[in-house]
Amino acid sequence: MRGVVIHAPKDLRVEDVGVPLLGADEVLVRVAVGGICGSDLHYYHHGGFGTVRVREPMALGHEFSGVVQQVGGDVSHLVPGMRVAVNPSRPCGHCRYCAEGMQNQCLDMRFMGSAMRMPHVQGGFRESVTVHASQLVPIDDALSMAEAAMAEPLAVCLHAARQAGSLLGKKVLITGAGPIGMLSVLVARRSGAARIVITDVVDAPLDLARRLGADEAINVSSSPAALEPYRIEKGTFDVLFEASGNQSALVSSLDVLRPGGVIVQLGLGGEMTLPVNTIVAKELQLRGTFRFHEEFQLAVDMMGRGLIDVKSLISSSFPFEQARDAFERASDRSQSMKVQLVFGGADT
Ligand code: ZN
Repeated sequence: MRGVVIHAPKDLRVEDVGVPLLGADEVLVRVAVGGICGSDLHYYHHGGFGTVRVREPMALGHEFSGVVQQVGGDVSHLVPGMRVAVNPSRPCGHCRYCAEGMQNQCLDMRFMGSAMRMPHVQGGFRESVTVHASQLVPIDDALSMAEAAMAEPLAVCLHAARQAGSLLGKKVLITGAGPIGMLSVLVARRSGAARIVITDVVDAPLDLARRLGADEAINVSSSPAALEPYRIEKGTFDVLFEASGNQSALVSSLDVLRPGGVIVQLGLGGEMTLPVNTIVAKELQLRGTFRFHEEFQLAVDMMGRGLIDVKSLISSSFPFEQARDAFERASDRSQSMKVQLVFGGADT
């Protein structure tokens, strides 16, 4: 059995990874489709991000779907042949944060394709994986495997929206038109936002954002003055979803947020310098958001019922044997939104 394994920066190999053993409460899943995420790209280009570094070979991937192949002896609600979205998140279920319903802050989290703990938790870019039965969400017949592989990033955005509070009638600014920014457009629209403006420094994703329902999509590199009108009366926007991880995107947004506005920081930018006086004087509320928990099921449900349509975000797919080409393509924002790898479990 093969997988897509990162060894070191730019050293990504398609190689044998061994057949996983099946525990009584586990399920063997034949992987169908896996999406390449920004963090996968960080492992590929830099060997990690922040203080997280790849210290042993690790199969990448935490956005994926597949088909149940075999179930452990204690699993009764899943049967071979079921099409599933795989939740890469496995909280322990009994630490203090799990007990408080904050499973995304679990003290003993096992998150697939993450080098945060040692040994690393192997990811989903493998022909087959074993996961705990609780990590599988059966998908609607109408949903493709490619769409099901979008459940994870959609769950991230649903959790971020929850951090913001009600979006009904709100004016929403989204900085960064990558997949997370795009999904945030869809979530904000579905949540009743009155006006949605998205910014980026590349034109191609902004065109897509307009088609997805953004009221205005601004290239702040070629049109740096386009946000000026929104500075009126101390600022216009009620909510900012910062999805670029770029300091200047966050700092320049402070001037167009109204007093009391909420900032939900999705982008991981490392160290930033912020004008604290502005945050204090305008009583802005800066909120973090990290992964998701129950929103994974919600993401699958919303896609399955046609309430969120992610199909146009999937810009290309490659056979997993061509993973390096796929990672290079995914790194080119002028050509790519979401690039996926096809592993062949079921039709896609
Ligand atoms: Zn826990």
